Amino acid sequence: MKRFDQEPWGNGSIRRLRLSAHSLLGLEESVTDRLGWSYPDLAHLLRRISSTPGEDATELFRRMVFNALVSNTDDHPRNHAVLGTDTRQWRLSPVFDLVPSNDRSLDDRSLAMTCGVTPGRERWANRLNLVSGAQHFDLGIEEADTLITRMKEIVVGRWEDHVRIHGGTAQDARNIAHAIAYPGFDLSAEWSIADVELEGAFDPEQVTVHIQGPGELFVLVLPIEARRVRIVSSTSDALAALPVPMNIARVRRMATFTISLRQAETYLRGRVLLAGDAAHCHSPVGGRGMNLGIDDAFAAARAVHSGDVATYSQKRHIIGAKVMKASEAARKMVTSNSRLVHLLTQGAMGAVQAVAPLRRLVMAKMSSF
Ligand SMILES: Cc1cc2nc3c(=O)[nH]c(=O)nc-3n(C[C@H](O)[C@H](O)[C@H](O)COP(=O)(O)OP(=O)(O)OC[C@H]3O[C@@H](n4cnc5c(N)ncnc54)[C@H](O)[C@@H]3O)c2cc1C
Repeated sequence: MKRFDQEPWGNGSIRRLRLSAHSLLGLEESVTDRLGWSYPDLAHLLRRISSTPGEDATELFRRMVFNALVSNTDDHPRNHAVLGTDTRQWRLSPVFDLVPSNDRSLDDRSLAMTCGVTPGRERWANRLNLVSGAQHFDLGIEEADTLITRMKEIVVGRWEDHVRIHGGTAQDARNIAHAIAYPGFDLSAEWSIADVELEGAFDPEQVTVHIQGPGELFVLVLPIEARRVRIVSSTSDALAALPVPMNIARVRRMATFTISLRQAETYLRGRVLLAGDAAHCHSPVGGRGMNLGIDDAFAAARAVHSGDVATYSQKRHIIGAKVMKASEAARKMVTSNSRLVHLLTQGAMGAVQAVAPLRRLVMAKMSSF
């Protein structure tokens, strides 16, 4: 092990001056004190005491992003430090104590310190939240987003090789695989839904998907009945996001929601069978949630009738995982920052809207029939 807080001195070594972020920021350990643990605060402090303030602030941002990407949720302020330099100044110390966590949640992880400014979710280990506080680290929003994309590519592409090169076994790699770039890392914050009744006619076969620009705004207008449509938007106000004016006679329901991405490890516990959202949750892109739940219920009834409940769990878990994967792929496509993906998605959506048999095929796939 290489110690960065000691250096050779004669036949032995001397300690270098080292201060933890915990001491620097004058922090305490109680539950309420923990609320004050913050990367932006540390970045501001570095700006005052570091010999290379901008560089250290950006490096701290990278470390914060890395911790989010590998689910290192033990990134408390004692695991950050500065070292004294020969010129009696301070520099951010080399990074240490990075441990991918065993968190099984697919969609939601929190760092130990505030890492963004998303209201109520300031510790959210998520791209949106990390980018939201970019200015505290001397970074612009776009610059921060590009940096995260690049870091994610590197982490996803190389983590396994690194584990193996440094002596980890294939089993070690499997054990931490779920910690790396967890599926919720790219989830957006608040989406919205509105069910409205329209005045006048609306083609009930018409499914309208609007993607305003790469990563900007996704709006789905889906007919439910002859004069009733559902609007789903990647913003918090579905009606304000409407890309074309609609003659709305009555708003039946409006709500905001956050996308979950969860699946129970087994759909069978004792005498209880899990089905529907209790077994799986994913984004509404693709409109498969309720349908998948109805399929589960049908399969569960058949399994109970035939006495074959064990295979119910196995089979439905595989089907659920497939639907979740497809739904996530679709969500990533419609909310992608890439201009190419954006163009391809719009082309595909245009084809679905224009070609009736293709439209019916997509609708049939969405409803499992
Ligand atoms: C915005 C949005 C849009 C969607 N769009 C679509 C779509 O277009 N197509 C599609 O197929 N799906 C869609 N879905 C998903 C769909 O709504 C859900 O998958 C479906 O409602 C799940 O049904 P469920 O019966 O499993 O769970 P739920 O509908 O959540 O029902 C569970 C019920 O149990 C009750 N409950 C909970 N705890 C207790 C308790 N302890 N005791 C007693 N009762 C309890 C709850 O109050 C609730 O009534 C969408 C979801 C969202 C959020």
